Amino acid sequence: MSWLTNIPPKIRALVTKPDVPDNLWQQCTACEQMIFHRELDANLRVCPGCGFHMRLPAEQRLKTVFDDETWEKLELPGCVNDPLKFRDRKRYSDRLKDNRSTTGETDAIMAAEGKIGGMGAVAAVFNFSFMGGSMGMAVGEGILVAARRAVESGVPFLIFPSSGGARMQEGIMSLMQMPRSTIAVQEVREAGLPYIVVLTDPTTGGVSASFAMLGDITIAEPGAVVGFAGARVIEDTIREKLPDGFQRAEYLYEHGMVDMVVKRHDMRETLIRIIDLLTNRRSTPDMPVQSQLPPPETAETGPAE
Ligand SMILES: [Zn+2]
Repeated sequence: MSWLTNIPPKIRALVTKPDVPDNLWQQCTACEQMIFHRELDANLRVCPGCGFHMRLPAEQRLKTVFDDETWEKLELPGCVNDPLKFRDRKRYSDRLKDNRSTTGETDAIMAAEGKIGGMGAVAAVFNFSFMGGSMGMAVGEGILVAARRAVESGVPFLIFPSSGGARMQEGIMSLMQMPRSTIAVQEVREAGLPYIVVLTDPTTGGVSASFAMLGDITIAEPGAVVGFAGARVIEDTIREKLPDGFQRAEYLYEHGMVDMVVKRHDMRETLIRIIDLLTNRRSTPDMPVQSQLPPPETAETGPAE
């Protein structure tokens, strides 16, 4: 028995720490600053200290994008659960059950239709907290349903991947989602509608090898890891040290894989401007469409000799 049990409760209360729920504070993975969770949510889960972009749950992502935080959630058809009766450390069917009860979602994707800057759009968002956002049959189906809704409504299709890649528990069925999601993108393209991809941390594996790299415009969030195989695997294979910032959004932008790196706080405005330009519709007739490009160099501001 601990000697503490002999101390009267009132005195014990003075020396023991009060119960503080751990989830009130979150530590920034980049600068290690402790941030109050409400402050973090209010700042769209961007660290107020160093600007590090933490992962954003699907629902919160939709809130940051659609007008008045309102949208119509698309019903995604159910799929066969665990077709291979797969088992690793745990049964896949049990893993699905656990993830469904903790996230409240049926799988790793959510799709919605709403308005962005007064213009219609369909958005599909990955939920990384559901089995690492892995792409199985349900995710492939979700992309297809969302893309077809965009075609039906004649509106742009936006996708926000955040995924570790294919879902190995579904074997070949999960790999088949790569061509399947590519066909979904093709249907949007054939309808002459814009397809915009916002790469969020992380976009890797089969997801980066299919629909995520096919955007008419490819945007990435700052610091997002985007690549096919992991950096360590590549280093071990080629036996070379990879450059700093390899597979990060900024590196990909410098090497022409990404069109723009946009901070989460500027994402909605950027999407409005892009949709406006690509669809040739003005959200508000008197609002001038500003170009992202710097003004052309004149003789006075040209490079010094
Ligand atoms: Zn930070």
